[in-house]
Amino acid sequence: MIENIYKDLGISKEVYDFTERIAESLSERFKKIDRTAEYNQMKVIRAMQKNRLAEAHFQPSTGYGYNDQGRDTLEAVYSDVFHTESSLVRPALTCGTHALTIALSANVRPGDEIFSPVGKPYDTLEGVIGIKEQKGSLKEYGVSYAQADLLPDGSFDYDAIRSKINSRTKLVTIQRSKGYDPRPTFSVEKIGELISFIKQIKPDVICMVDNCYGEFTEEREPSDVGADLCVGSLIKNPGGGLAPIGGYITGREDLVEQCAFRLTAPGLGKEVGATLGLTQSFFQGLFLAPTVTAGAIKGAVFAAAVYEALGFECVPKASEERYDIIQALKLGSPAGMIAFCKGIQGAAPVDSYVVPEPWAMPGYHSDVIMAAGAFVQGSSIELSADGPIEPPYEIYLQGGLTWYHAKLGVMKSLQEMMNAGEIKHL
Ligand SMILES: *Cc1c(COP(=O)(O)O)cnc(C)c1O
Repeated sequence: MIENIYKDLGISKEVYDFTERIAESLSERFKKIDRTAEYNQMKVIRAMQKNRLAEAHFQPSTGYGYNDQGRDTLEAVYSDVFHTESSLVRPALTCGTHALTIALSANVRPGDEIFSPVGKPYDTLEGVIGIKEQKGSLKEYGVSYAQADLLPDGSFDYDAIRSKINSRTKLVTIQRSKGYDPRPTFSVEKIGELISFIKQIKPDVICMVDNCYGEFTEEREPSDVGADLCVGSLIKNPGGGLAPIGGYITGREDLVEQCAFRLTAPGLGKEVGATLGLTQSFFQGLFLAPTVTAGAIKGAVFAAAVYEALGFECVPKASEERYDIIQALKLGSPAGMIAFCKGIQGAAPVDSYVVPEPWAMPGYHSDVIMAAGAFVQGSSIELSADGPIEPPYEIYLQGGLTWYHAKLGVMKSLQEMMNAGEIKHL
């Protein structure tokens, strides 16, 4: 039966047998992933129960959104999940970049310095900080930026970090996920070590973690190991695929209050901000987020195991621990990347009939290919793949609302690689 339905979906017996063997070999690994999901599921349920979540909280608010108890309860639930004092979780935080922009700009003043001890931050933040020339950047407001690069092996350069922290260093920004850079993703434990080191040098510095793609991949979050602020996007892990928009900021009460004043207006803060009927999706997405994240991690591990077995270089390797949901696969040729993306697109529930093509995306110096057939535009907790068509011809795969969908995506990608002659035999 199951072989037949895969056949209907365009998977040959050869690809089915090969990937099935690999999936079976991962069962012990998957048990561990499920155990983390189980813990995080309990953490979310406990937070919802503690805050007496009720059906009435799903009522939409309009206008100013005063006394929106659903919104206030959602933020209290986030604070309990992350073990923090205060949170902002709202549709008015339009994406991860926006949430990070608010967290940064709200907590620095002219003359202050932002410091990244983990190399260059995510692409979109370069313009925000002013690393790259951009109208409205923090640099225009007299905020400077310093950076310590990672050592060649991807570890922290503690000497450089010590030398760059100075009297003006106000906020340290730490990106948990490698994002689309060739460096390791940091475990929560490693982030904790880094924060302790920094706080020994300068105890009052604000440590902010860009938590995008990392939520619920481990039992602890950076806020459990000393981060003053954690920031992320709701169209990634914590939205569970159901949040149609949004971002979150969680952490120390005084810092989150600054964020609320920057997001709305000084003096108004968290009190205003209508939720327009989105609160239920935010709650339900958070409820599903631990298992959705587990499905995405299984997909990433499976992809690495399949492509490693065929001799492709994968980062992280199939056997490595995971601290985010991103899988890089060095496919080695433009044709390989195009075939791979065709497979991911062909496995999608939405826009499956579309054939992705490389295009000159603004901000990139080479053509970029992207595959995504998502319910929510740009959602990268949903199965998606992308990469610039340039050496080393690396594709980034992430997401999958369910393990079975992620599995089909990887199977289809392999099928398309074979159809294109990029892989000759299994
Ligand atoms: C996705 C991401 C962002 C930006 O989030 P958007 O919602 O795309 O604006 C920032 N940092 C990291 C590490 C990310 O993965």
